[in-house]
Amino acid sequence: MSENNINQFASLPYEYDALEPFIDKETMSVHHTKHHRAYYDKFIKAIEGTSLENMSVIDILKDLSVLPEDKKQAIINNGGGYFNHNFFWDILSPTSNKAPFEALEKEIVTSFESFENFKEKFKEKALTLFGSGWVWLVLNKEGKLEIIQTRNQDSAISLGLKPILALDVWEHAYYLKYQNKRAEYVDAFWNVVNWKQAEFLFNSYK
Ligand code: MN
Repeated sequence: MSENNINQFASLPYEYDALEPFIDKETMSVHHTKHHRAYYDKFIKAIEGTSLENMSVIDILKDLSVLPEDKKQAIINNGGGYFNHNFFWDILSPTSNKAPFEALEKEIVTSFESFENFKEKFKEKALTLFGSGWVWLVLNKEGKLEIIQTRNQDSAISLGLKPILALDVWEHAYYLKYQNKRAEYVDAFWNVVNWKQAEFLFNSYK
């Protein structure tokens, strides 16, 4: 994912089965080739023939107020779906450190008392999100860490927030393996978090 690249549909940075047993191959494959692909295709269709065509999805989502009214919701839904999944794939890794480290680790402890407490708060946000959406760890406008929920494919970057971590809590992200057991999916997530990427993002915002 690069802010300078023209929008394109990229392969995952690992194999579909790389996150087994925590996130299964079939879920990753359907999620990427069907769900993510559909958001991407509809996003490209929505910006086709407009001045947005030469802009990155990140720049487009950062200021929704300038979007043409007739395209706005399609871009929020599908540009959001496109960007949020790009972000999500990068924040997952088959070689997870299992815990934050360095500057982000310190900031998490400062903000949430402990990593364990942070995970509890994050899980609570994931379990209390009614319907479909995302849970994010972000740097807020005051430069503080905050855990937030967004609905549907609304993106943290459209709220002026700087995302560090994200969890897709749409049922399509976990239903094949976990069915209604969202809590087990959240617990499994911690085994595949790419904390190197999270640390990189955190430092890049300073
Ligand atoms: Mn998804």
